Amino acid sequence: MLDKPKCMLTVDVEALALRAPAHHVDSLIYGRFNGEEWGIGRMMDIADKHQVKLTFFLDFAETELYGEDIIQAGRYIASRGHDLQIHCHYNLLENQVRNRFPEAAESYYTWYEDEAVSEFLVDYCLEQYRKCTDREPIVFRGGEYRVGKALLKKLKEKKVAADASYNYIRPVEKPMNRQFVFENGLFELPVAVLPEKEGIASKVLNFNEAHLYPVKEADLEPCLKEYEKVFREFYDCYGKNTLAAMVMHSWSFCYEKERFQSSGYMDRPNIYAAEFFDRFLAHFKGKYEFITAAQAVTAEEIHFSKTIDFDAVFSLHEQRESREKFKWIESFIKEKARGRRIIIWGKGWIEGRVMRIWNLSQQLDAAFYISRDADKKRLWRRKPVKTFEEAELSRDKDYVLVIANTRFPEIRDSLHEIGFVEFEDYIDIAQPLPDIENGNEEDKEYPACSICGGNKFVPFNSKRPRYCEGCGSVERNRTIPLLFSENLGTELLSKRILHVSPSRPERIFFEKTGAKNITTLDVRPQVKPDIVADLCDMPQVESESFEIVFANCVLNHVYDDNAALAEVCRVLKGNGLFIVWVMGSGGMCTTIDQEPAAWYGQETMDTYRVGTYRHYGERDFYHLLMRYFAEVHAFEKYDAPSEMSCCWYVCKKKNGAGKDV
Ligand SMILES: [Zn+2]
Ligand SMILES: [Zn+2]
Repeated sequence: MLDKPKCMLTVDVEALALRAPAHHVDSLIYGRFNGEEWGIGRMMDIADKHQVKLTFFLDFAETELYGEDIIQAGRYIASRGHDLQIHCHYNLLENQVRNRFPEAAESYYTWYEDEAVSEFLVDYCLEQYRKCTDREPIVFRGGEYRVGKALLKKLKEKKVAADASYNYIRPVEKPMNRQFVFENGLFELPVAVLPEKEGIASKVLNFNEAHLYPVKEADLEPCLKEYEKVFREFYDCYGKNTLAAMVMHSWSFCYEKERFQSSGYMDRPNIYAAEFFDRFLAHFKGKYEFITAAQAVTAEEIHFSKTIDFDAVFSLHEQRESREKFKWIESFIKEKARGRRIIIWGKGWIEGRVMRIWNLSQQLDAAFYISRDADKKRLWRRKPVKTFEEAELSRDKDYVLVIANTRFPEIRDSLHEIGFVEFEDYIDIAQPLPDIENGNEEDKEYPACSICGGNKFVPFNSKRPRYCEGCGSVERNRTIPLLFSENLGTELLSKRILHVSPSRPERIFFEKTGAKNITTLDVRPQVKPDIVADLCDMPQVESESFEIVFANCVLNHVYDDNAALAEVCRVLKGNGLFIVWVMGSGGMCTTIDQEPAAWYGQETMDTYRVGTYRHYGERDFYHLLMRYFAEVHAFEKYDAPSEMSCCWYVCKKKNGAGKDV
């Protein structure tokens, strides 16, 4: 690949009231101090010097606070030729929402799941945006990186092309990803996240992240080195055609750790930050191509090869697991506290996620909260907010629940210093918890099986109710009808199909849909296929004789997957499709199974060379398929009964001969 890996520098432009004592727009957006500018103007000056364009996500909800000043900021960005897009801190539109929707939920955490409210939120931002420029907005980023299904649908309806909110804690904890497409065609440009590695939690590519952010002259070079490492890791992990979206804020040059920790303000320029940004661009502009969000949605090299069902992203199963977890925490704390007061300690209020999923604060009747924002926010949900010092905690009187989403060792350290013992005197939800039993799902009513229509499901190889008692299907079978009806088109079922390693539910499905041109193939005669042959070497099958080769959970089990793919290509006609599902490794890299005979047994291994040889990583599998096919598309399909999703790959053979391999 000749193209340089691509990086998108995004700047959230916002002046949240908590972040400065006064003159919010001037200090937090323009960084105006002592006649100098350390905000968006300075950023654009530096970017212009290197001919780099930045993408600014302007918080249009702040027109509620600052009126015309926000529109002016938008016009200023647009007039300087940088990319202006939409950011929206939903809570700032509280009055507007309450007036229009008296029934709207109390917490803004659910507004983006409500169609009517979402439509209003999007319309509001579009209206403000259009006051700034003649262009139409292309990308949206939710406040606190929050979005929901309803909001994402409205964005697409209103012709916004992409969302850029997905990151390591949204929508559910740590969903790693590269850019993808939602089922309605809306692109997602996730914030770049480095995978968890050797016990180090995953990290966001954030300009103000401690290890990437210089605070003195001597930090400048080491920080550049650190970025080199971070970029290398990122592109190694996801592949070079992944867009790295980096996060900055309009106050990024005005962040000073000590000042921030003592006051919560971003109101003192850090000259090294601006200096560093200059060096950063000088250093990396030759290596990486810096593109805007508007360019990203049209960049071919980034091709959005994966389409994901909404429900696979906003998984009910994971939400329920979180709910189970919080229910467990609630009873655990009540039991352990034994008459002591319960105190909730949060790191800022972004962790309100906990409150939304299971209203712990209400259930636990906390005495008060501890937060570093205590001096600015004395009350929260009618309870006092204190600093750690004011709280004067003691083991005899208090039990503490730490609700920060990520690990903050300083909170734990403070508690340990005053003698608190984990679980006995406090619990930190970011730490691993003891095993939690799942709730009783026996009398649950399930959605119908997409293959046989049955609705009795039982656990299979996991606690999840995956197995349909009617047809024997699991989710990787039940997503097949959905793949055809929602993505590929059912007319494909009349094509000549080579069905490799046919299972009972798949046979039922093909039979029901009237697919007539099916030829089954397996290396094991007892499966009773039409052709007994080894997929890795099947001279019995004529070249270019099928329009579709269908292989569900097969490639993991063949001894030579390259040979199998070459054979699949050979027997496919020009423009033919290979439709395939494989067991994943759960990561980006393919892993080799240490006990290949464990599932099918030694005899099957000895007789047919069938075993479990490998588990495919998402990136590696994509690259493997791209060696043989002209196009590879992935579809993450959601199975309602099990509340799990399966990623199907649909590969198109080049017209004429296969690719040279
Ligand atoms: Zn924001
Ligand atoms: Zn069934």
